[in-house]
Amino acid sequence: MKKLLYILIIVFTYAYNFAQSADEEIYFPADTSKKAFHPSRELITSELSADTDEESDDSEAQNEIAELYGDFNTTAIHQFKYKEVFQNRDSILISFEKDKFVLPVIGKINSHYGWRRYRPHYGTDIDLEKGDSVRVAFDGVVRYANKKVKGYGQVIVIRHFNGLETVYAHLSKIFVSPNDTLKAGTVIGLGGSTGRSTGPHLHFEVRCLGISINSEDIIDYENGTLKKQNFLLTKKDAEETYNLRFKKYHSLAKNKSIYIVKKGDTLSKIARKTGIPLSYLMKKNKLKKTTILKPGRKLYL
Ligand SMILES: [Zn+2]
Repeated sequence: MKKLLYILIIVFTYAYNFAQSADEEIYFPADTSKKAFHPSRELITSELSADTDEESDDSEAQNEIAELYGDFNTTAIHQFKYKEVFQNRDSILISFEKDKFVLPVIGKINSHYGWRRYRPHYGTDIDLEKGDSVRVAFDGVVRYANKKVKGYGQVIVIRHFNGLETVYAHLSKIFVSPNDTLKAGTVIGLGGSTGRSTGPHLHFEVRCLGISINSEDIIDYENGTLKKQNFLLTKKDAEETYNLRFKKYHSLAKNKSIYIVKKGDTLSKIARKTGIPLSYLMKKNKLKKTTILKPGRKLYL
């Protein structure tokens, strides 16, 4: 019995590690440290003190968003809320009408949102020099700040009153702490190359209910302005457009280079259906004759 338990632990550990390493650059990283990093607050308090008269407006907006998100988790970098929210509605409209927007960093885009060679890239990479100021895009509250997150390195997540969240990764320094209220344009940290990064840049994500959307859908990086007054996230967008893996598999399936296992399928059935030799299917997908195929599994053809 003891031995079985031991084997199970090994298997689960292996499976977990595999799932982690198989994931993209920084989409579902392990939260390596639950402890929030609390640096000096001096830098932001001077900027905040002048804006106390707007506080009631902000807190009202914040309450609406809080309801939508359900909670304000300062220990998890990802908060996927779209499934819960879309149980009762098909879309959510984010309005920027009252918002001031500031580009986090002015620089060239090194890498766009989308599928990269081997994995999805859920952010927009903006070129910078180590030590450059990184600014918060909209008014908001720091939800998460951590110096050591797998992939992301030093990272800050800010929840905005408009309903979005923004993520700032690979920083070399963090100046803010969870629950700090910030005005758009406040310097929140310094750029760097921490985490999985090949050189100094800002990995910037815009998220809506936990879904990383393409920031270029709303931001005009050349002019440093917003492209639109509103952003509508539909359930379909959340599940398909902004689900890069779904998109990739869908296009592969369309090109007939991938087969999605259906209920009742066996390897030999699939070989017959697709006309692809059984031995080739097994080799290509590293399968044994006895492997049980679960519906939904993707096979390379
Ligand atoms: Zn990136």
